[in-house]
Amino acid sequence: MYNERTSTDRVVVVGAGQAGADFVAALRMAGHQGPVTLVGEEPEHPYARPPLSKAYLSGKATAEDLHLRPPAMYEQQGIDIRTGTRVTSVDRAARHVVLADGERLPYGHLVLATGGRPRRLPAPGLDEAPNVHYLRTLADVAAMRPRFVPGARLVVVGGGYVGLEVAAVARGLGLTVTVLEALPRVLARVTAPQVSAFYQRVHAEEGVDIRVDTAVTGFAFAPDGAVTAVELKNGERLDADVVLVGIGLVPDTELAERSGLAVDNGIVVDEYCRTADPAVFAIGDCTSHPCGEHGGRRRLESVPNASEQARTAAAAIAGHPAPYTAIPWFWSDQYDVKLQTVGLSTGHDEVVIRGTTETGRSFAAFYLKDGQVRAADVVCSPRDFAAARKLVGARARVSAEALRDLSVPLKQLL
Ligand SMILES: Cc1cc2nc3c(=O)[nH]c(=O)nc-3n(C[C@H](O)[C@H](O)[C@H](O)COP(=O)(O)OP(=O)(O)OC[C@H]3O[C@@H](n4cnc5c(N)ncnc54)[C@H](O)[C@@H]3O)c2cc1C
Repeated sequence: MYNERTSTDRVVVVGAGQAGADFVAALRMAGHQGPVTLVGEEPEHPYARPPLSKAYLSGKATAEDLHLRPPAMYEQQGIDIRTGTRVTSVDRAARHVVLADGERLPYGHLVLATGGRPRRLPAPGLDEAPNVHYLRTLADVAAMRPRFVPGARLVVVGGGYVGLEVAAVARGLGLTVTVLEALPRVLARVTAPQVSAFYQRVHAEEGVDIRVDTAVTGFAFAPDGAVTAVELKNGERLDADVVLVGIGLVPDTELAERSGLAVDNGIVVDEYCRTADPAVFAIGDCTSHPCGEHGGRRRLESVPNASEQARTAAAAIAGHPAPYTAIPWFWSDQYDVKLQTVGLSTGHDEVVIRGTTETGRSFAAFYLKDGQVRAADVVCSPRDFAAARKLVGARARVSAEALRDLSVPLKQLL
């Protein structure tokens, strides 16, 4: 069904994560009949990462449940998938990539979907400590999961989404959990103070010791190299059986940089996911893309962004280019609390809370700029989230009073 034609119409994808896997499926859907090779360094077929800090870590999902598509699909779709294979370099002049075993794969189009790696905490001895973990891959969960036993003392460094989700799962598994955040509040870079305060309250209610404004200064080690305690700036030492570091992601831009492509906190692409080289595209967490009306550039770390960029690049390569204009959205699950966010709150000048963050577990926060709804965080209300998406999509001008008024359904404000 699919042709083994010349290398000039071969599409090579580096990175078999969310973006890479969604891209190859979208490329076939868009009508590309030529050869496609998907190269991924991890040994598994492409899988979803969000459950790594949720259902998979808690034991409620299996590795098979995480597959983005049935492994047989790749063969059925004529996609040459190379798992456990690292691309070591790109030669843009010769239009080929080089694999770790020296094989050269020629391409007509190249798609970089390399994602990123957890930011490391620079501390002597930490990289060798067997009980200090980072969370990005199935292998990371396999390494840390045996330490998640009832009564174990977990210290989470970093109060971002990954750290907080792991804290929630760990409480469910019976661990004692402390979360350390250097900034004055958790989720400080992504949400309003009221939303941070809500999460701090929920975690405290669930028995997590959340410490904000708390800098880690060092670690104590056992003779076997394991961390035994985390040392804080205020002189305190927290005993630890297991440490999870969740302090962000460093985009994997090495191949792009070494091949002379522009990188600026991510591989620089336009609204079609093209780099400055018309044969090379980049998609997903590794990209820095134009921000539309917000101006500037942005790098997003989310499944919806990876999927949208995959579709955008596939359409462009298949000859039906359409710019990436989708409104970003994201979700996070902690305990019984589902957060759904939409839009970009950057530059907002007003935050309106619908409901209350001080009691209960359902509310919405709207981010307004010049009276327009730009973004929303909606907690435990799929109906309000559906309406919030429309309000953000329409750049609706809604008064703060109307947004706050619980007697007025949000959909009436559209
Ligand atoms: C624990 C966790 C929870 C998350 N929860 C959510 C959530 O609730 N909601 C949400 O929207 N997003 C969530 N995310 C983020 C989401 O998973 C990412 O945004 C998404 O996976 C990005 O896809 P990607 O394809 O760009 O990168 P990745 O999925 O990281 O894939 C990149 C792949 O490229 C491979 N690679 C890199 N370099 C090479 C090379 N040289 N040769 C071969 N292969 C290479 C890597 O090994 C990797 O497999 C979560 C992420 C994590 C880690």
